[in-house]
Amino acid sequence: MVKTKKPRTKKTKSRSEKNIQERYSIDLNIHDKDMALMVSDRRCYMCCKSTEDEGSHFDIDSVLNSITSCCCDKDDYLLSDRPIKESLFRVILMNGNNPITLEEIHGILSDKWALAPYPRDISIKLLKNLIDNADEYGIIVKNN
Ligand SMILES: [Zn+2]
Repeated sequence: MVKTKKPRTKKTKSRSEKNIQERYSIDLNIHDKDMALMVSDRRCYMCCKSTEDEGSHFDIDSVLNSITSCCCDKDDYLLSDRPIKESLFRVILMNGNNPITLEEIHGILSDKWALAPYPRDISIKLLKNLIDNADEYGIIVKNN
């Protein structure tokens, strides 16, 4: 009985093929922009109203806090007719500016826009292209 010897196969690569997932967040200390103002602008009408007379000094932590605990649940927080970059910015904010992967962003937008009257292309490829060029929103890659 002849036994054919199986050629030794090299260890499969699968282990090293683990996706290296870039995570994105917003650089709130970017120098040439008033990020506190930019972020506070994304709050809902009621939240904006409640701090109206406090002038333009915003505590970024409390602004982020209102977004995550209140404004991001409002229907108009992630409207499907806003520019996609704007929406990327808003998704990162509603995540409390914790680093988030494109896949997660994609999931959130797909959910929110599932019933949008006009379907939009929000493929990960397209999102990546936009997010890598979103300096005006202070969006940066932040791994680990
Ligand atoms: Zn609010």
